[in-house]
Amino acid sequence: MAATETLCPFPINTDRACGRTVAQRSGPGRPRTYCDDPKHNAVNRLRADRRLAARVQSDVSDRPVSSAMSALVATLDRAADLKAQLLAELADAEQFAADVTDPELIALELESVRRDADARVAQALAAQAAAEHEAALARRERDEARAERDEALKLQEIAIEAAYEAIEARDKAADAVTRMRADCDRQIASVTAVADAELAGVHAERKRLSAVADKALNEVRELGAELATVHEDHRQLVTALTEQRARHLSRVPTTSPRHRRRTGRTSRAA
Ligand SMILES: [Zn+2]
Repeated sequence: MAATETLCPFPINTDRACGRTVAQRSGPGRPRTYCDDPKHNAVNRLRADRRLAARVQSDVSDRPVSSAMSALVATLDRAADLKAQLLAELADAEQFAADVTDPELIALELESVRRDADARVAQALAAQAAAEHEAALARRERDEARAERDEALKLQEIAIEAAYEAIEARDKAADAVTRMRADCDRQIASVTAVADAELAGVHAERKRLSAVADKALNEVRELGAELATVHEDHRQLVTALTEQRARHLSRVPTTSPRHRRRTGRTSRAA
């Protein structure tokens, strides 16, 4: 809706315009200036302005007839100019009409239109082919995505199965380890018992040997003491014999060769 209302400016009289509201077009284009009356347009407005101006001039003149005559002459001159202009325009129109009906030009234009149409058809076909290609690609991607999803689901099932198998194997291994540990504990207990028994035997043997050794040592000590006694007896005996021999020799003469031999032997023996 237009913000401001346009009023038709077509002159009706020297002091009054049409003044009706101008209905604006809704689409694109230059805004309308005049109202719906088909006679209210730019060309008719030019004529009306001239006519009204001439009437004003004759109204204010002292010689209205002469003034009207001058206006008539001027108007006829302008009419002659307009006639010449109109004839020229008509000649142009005839030429344009001839061009419009010229078979060669028509053929040229038809060819151009056909080329445009062919180009548009080719463009549309290319677009259709591209769209079909895109659709095929999309279908293939969709199929590939489905295949990947199915493969992933299959792998997932395999992984779950493998996990269950691993759990079962772990449980079995744990049972085996428990059994092995029990076996091991039993074997260790058995070996320990045997070793303890052997150790006790060794201890007893060592104790027995130690007692034997103590006894032998005591016997050695006793023998030592006896030996010392015998030695002392022997020493006392030797002393007694020496003293006895000395007393005996003091009573034998010194010149005797028997004595010298005996003395020499005795001194060597002593
Ligand atoms: Zn009007």
